[in-house]
Amino acid sequence: MEIITDPASMQKLSKSLLSAGETIGLVPTMGYLHEGHISLIKKARKDCSMVIVSIFINPIQFGPGEDYGTYPRDTQRDRSMAEKAGADYIFKPSVKDMYPDKFSTFVEVVGLDSIMCGAMRPGHFRGVCTVVIKLFNIIYPDRAYFGLKDYQQYLIIKKMVKDLELPVKVIGCPIVREKDGLAMSSRNKHLSASERKSASILYKNLLLAKEKINNGENNLIKLKKICEENIKASADVLKVDYFDFRESETLEEIGTLKPEAGKKQIKKLLIAGAVRVGKTRLIDNLILNISNF
Ligand code: AMP
Repeated sequence: MEIITDPASMQKLSKSLLSAGETIGLVPTMGYLHEGHISLIKKARKDCSMVIVSIFINPIQFGPGEDYGTYPRDTQRDRSMAEKAGADYIFKPSVKDMYPDKFSTFVEVVGLDSIMCGAMRPGHFRGVCTVVIKLFNIIYPDRAYFGLKDYQQYLIIKKMVKDLELPVKVIGCPIVREKDGLAMSSRNKHLSASERKSASILYKNLLLAKEKINNGENNLIKLKKICEENIKASADVLKVDYFDFRESETLEEIGTLKPEAGKKQIKKLLIAGAVRVGKTRLIDNLILNISNF
């Protein structure tokens, strides 16, 4: 498996792969691979004749004071994991090649990008969209694979692809978890032993919310408060950035599941949260089918 670093060489290679009739699956990552990434690579391997994994810690999606400098990096480990999972190429460009001096073009999905993680991390999704569209223009994937762990990111990329008529199929892949339910993340490496124990509190409360709703609770404002309090009370949790109930496609906030006059009952409810455990920011979500209510 080859690692390609130069965008122009990658573009040339992708063009030749496409003209030879290959289908290209792209798995964009920031590296320090884990089983979550591997599940995306394996899915791409099943669907496509060529699998390209990009590894790029994208500086423009990190805000000031965020963890760009300390984001975990290990190219050798990534290389062997990606190869074992069936990747054909790794594309690993430098920051200078992706953002040369005087780079000044950005892509924004207005609206969806200013709530939830977007409200806490201004400019984050603008950075994500800009790098993803650049990767699409360098690699020409037929299909691009994104994890549903970053659910808001997945929706935003899908919207960008639709709005800009990009010829890429966006595939969302299920969240891969540790035994105690913690969603796998490269950032989990930074958790101390005690923080690691507390980190599954977010998922536990997603499950609690699900259970309460399944048992008939329809007051989501009350439920939000209960879950936020539970999480805040856990050791090592410094802050709950949000714990939200939203319609799964529009991300409209939902306060009640009680049928309301003149309002259509929603079909799928997103329960999503972001918490700071020590210095580490963790996100997670689940989608609840509520068509039976
Ligand atoms: P990252 O390297 O964290 O930017 O993630 C690269 C891709 O892997 C994104 O599409 C993520 O949503 C996806 N991903 C990260 N963690 C997981 C996980 N635990 N399960 C499934 N997909 C994941």
